[in-house]
Amino acid sequence: MPQITIDGKLCEFEGKKTILDVALDNGIEIPHYCYHPGMSVVASCRICMAEVEAPNPRNDNKLEMIPKLMPTCQTPAGEGQVVHTNSPKSVANQKSVMEFLLINHPLDCPVCDQAGECYLQDYSYKYGRSESRFDESKIKQPKKDIGEHVLLYSDRCIMCTRCVRFTKEVSGTSEIGIFGRGSSEQIDVFPGKPLDNELSGNVVDICPVGALLDKDFLMSMRVWNLEKAPSIDGITASGDNISIEYNEDRVYRVKPRTNMDINKWWTSDEIRFGWKFVHSEERHRSPQVKTEGESKEQDWNQAYEAVQAGLTGVLESRGSGSLAVMVSPMLSCEDAYLLGKLVIGLDSEAVIGVGPVPTSGQDKTFPGGYTITAEKCPNARGVRRALGQLTESVLDYNQFLAAIEDERTAAVILSGNYPSAWVTPDLAKAINGKFSVLIDTLPNSITENVNVLLPGATFVEKSGTFENHQNRLQSFDQAIKPIEFARTEGQISLDLIAKFGLGEPKRFDAHQTRIEMGDAFVTDVHHPSAESRKVSDMHLVQL
Ligand code: SF4
Repeated sequence: MPQITIDGKLCEFEGKKTILDVALDNGIEIPHYCYHPGMSVVASCRICMAEVEAPNPRNDNKLEMIPKLMPTCQTPAGEGQVVHTNSPKSVANQKSVMEFLLINHPLDCPVCDQAGECYLQDYSYKYGRSESRFDESKIKQPKKDIGEHVLLYSDRCIMCTRCVRFTKEVSGTSEIGIFGRGSSEQIDVFPGKPLDNELSGNVVDICPVGALLDKDFLMSMRVWNLEKAPSIDGITASGDNISIEYNEDRVYRVKPRTNMDINKWWTSDEIRFGWKFVHSEERHRSPQVKTEGESKEQDWNQAYEAVQAGLTGVLESRGSGSLAVMVSPMLSCEDAYLLGKLVIGLDSEAVIGVGPVPTSGQDKTFPGGYTITAEKCPNARGVRRALGQLTESVLDYNQFLAAIEDERTAAVILSGNYPSAWVTPDLAKAINGKFSVLIDTLPNSITENVNVLLPGATFVEKSGTFENHQNRLQSFDQAIKPIEFARTEGQISLDLIAKFGLGEPKRFDAHQTRIEMGDAFVTDVHHPSAESRKVSDMHLVQL
């Protein structure tokens, strides 16, 4: 395997790599702004330049210093090279680039959303000067609203062109360009053509400074107060690796986590901004039981007793095969398994089906390889797989509807947890006159009609496993606690299992549930890395 030496460290590499790639693979920091592994190399910011010694084949392969500093993001790594990023010449370049970039920068870190995760700020500490020698007036650039989700603060821009290359190479929409020349050069969109593509939020992530800002997150929270939980897209079947960023049980933003097998560095706006239902005012917050035709709030014990009385009554009077459960594809594998286990424990001939699988249009793949899936639920395959551990007969939604129309079915447990309306008129009709229990998060057309309503938890409020459209099983962590008195579907199932005397009372544990579910859920599940969970050491102070 070829080797190069970077700042005294011997680094091995395979295939065609640049010096910067080899350095990053080996944990060596070389400062860079314009380089991004997901886009073409332009070598324009010049801060990654370093002195390089290379073997000269015309001189017995003796090491010779290349006379100019070399851009490490563009220079191929070659056997025997010796790279100096901390030599006086390289350091002088780093300082000069920093000084140049800061000439017109407004230095408004105290009011900038990027502060705390800004490359310009970080590199100023590490590679910059402590004082500016520039005493002319700074050029003022405008602030612009360039799209549905993104604001542009031009005077913070360092012209790295990452955003320009993203819209050209990854989204393929080319809305952003460079306008003007020299010191009046600026990033902008074309007149009448805003930044309007399904991946637009990614330009905020890749902007190394605070020039492109997320309107949704604008001045809502300092980034050092945010904690991060590794999660998986809970809205579509993409399986995108995401990070839920939250503080004090409130989600502030969702960002992609890099996974080269799934979403690479990106995620769609649908996933990035689609979590708002988590904090909806309309969320079910406590159980409700229907008594004398009216739904009334009850505590969990009373609600469980109502479920027990209703289901026991049906099973005693109608016997085996009178119970049905619809397991939502919004649930995790663990939730689905425990709900199925409860129902089969009560009625071994129960009808078991998967809830409606929402779709919208066709899968859409962008020039950069990112795909938006048409399927708008995270776990249709995983729910089937989990229920398949318990029974061979798992019906799809239409088969389930047909099965429960049969008079034999006298009690139905339904799970929802969809971010938008999901109840079809057929379902409302089919459950009419049956004892019904609904575990859900948001109101819908049957909420008022069911006998017992149990408030469930959204994907950010629980841990579990989803199986994406490529049949990849991925686990995710809980970010925030369930809202008020809501409980996860897994916990509700465990509570009812204990209530019916089918098992001991237990706290939900995703890992233990996976072990119970069988080998595939132990060996085939991809887990997030330990570093993807970040706990803030600064706590929010409420003034
Ligand atoms: S707006 Fe950000 S990403 Fe775009 S060129 Fe300027 S600094 Fe780079």
